[in-house]
Amino acid sequence: MYKSLLVAVDGSTQSEKALILACHLALYDDAEVHIVHAPEVLQHPAMMTWGIGSVSMEDSREELEATGSKVVERAVLAAQELGVTKVHGHVVRGEPTRAIIRQSEELGVDVIVMGCRGLGNLSGLVMGSVSHKITHSAKCGVITVR
Ligand code: ATP
Ligand code: MG
Ligand code: MG
Repeated sequence: MYKSLLVAVDGSTQSEKALILACHLALYDDAEVHIVHAPEVLQHPAMMTWGIGSVSMEDSREELEATGSKVVERAVLAAQELGVTKVHGHVVRGEPTRAIIRQSEELGVDVIVMGCRGLGNLSGLVMGSVSHKITHSAKCGVITVR
């Protein structure tokens, strides 16, 4: 059914579940799996506390991209352990919703698989802001996992 899937990962339990579902769907059709993380530069706690005067944007970005690469690397290994061979990791820049949608369009994926909620799971809402916005704006299919 799907030849190419994008999984959005933020290190949360729900994005791990999304990864597992995407891998199972990919195995069924020998599809490509693209694992994507967009570091949330402006929401970094240090940026909130100290502002851009004390912690430079570049320091924060580099730190978050390093952490993001590890999240992606771990997800790539997990996908390979599930038997997926066509797996690719991407750390993308920009506001997460827009960066993930842009990446999905560049890759021409059939579907985006993601968690309903993620790391910011505080308010008890069913959908987080990233999953809400992507569900509304993506041109391809979106599967959200709880
Ligand atoms: P919010 O961020 O609005 O406070 P939340 O963290 O609970 O709430 P979302 O951020 O919408 O919810 O996360 C839902 C899903 O979106 C995650 O499970 C993950 O699949 C994906 N996601 C969220 N943030 C990112 C990101 N920065 N990069 C890649 N995927 C992300
Ligand atoms: Mg958020
Ligand atoms: Mg979030």
